[in-house]
Amino acid sequence: MGAGNGSVCLVGGAVLGEGMSRPEAPTHDSQDAKRSRRLSPYTGWCGRCGMTWNDVPSHDTSFTATTSCFPLCAACWTRLETPAARLPYYRALWQQWVEAEEAYRLAHPGRPAAINGQPYEALWEQIQAAVGGGH
Ligand SMILES: [Zn+2]
Repeated sequence: MGAGNGSVCLVGGAVLGEGMSRPEAPTHDSQDAKRSRRLSPYTGWCGRCGMTWNDVPSHDTSFTATTSCFPLCAACWTRLETPAARLPYYRALWQQWVEAEEAYRLAHPGRPAAINGQPYEALWEQIQAAVGGGH
């Protein structure tokens, strides 16, 4: 969800998986999607088709008992078919979270490098396991 901004890789080369692309914009954008984002500028959008959550339902992926994420809409999630095809979109979302947290940490020295108490890589492993499990 949300538009990616900036491409600074703050936690080093380990952030992006080998050979993994990083969609910062919808990878399959359309005029309908551009209109959807123009009409709902504060609403997140699907990383593949770019349609906002006001216009298409998201596919929610739970990766803990209480936490889920939704980088893809339901239609794109189905169309991508395999965890391997879906994973780059989850990685891009995770990367946005890490970058936002790192920006926040700059203003809050001593804050641990973690999201919801989880170190970044541990969080990624949870997401990866959920996506790999077909969720
Ligand atoms: Zn979509």
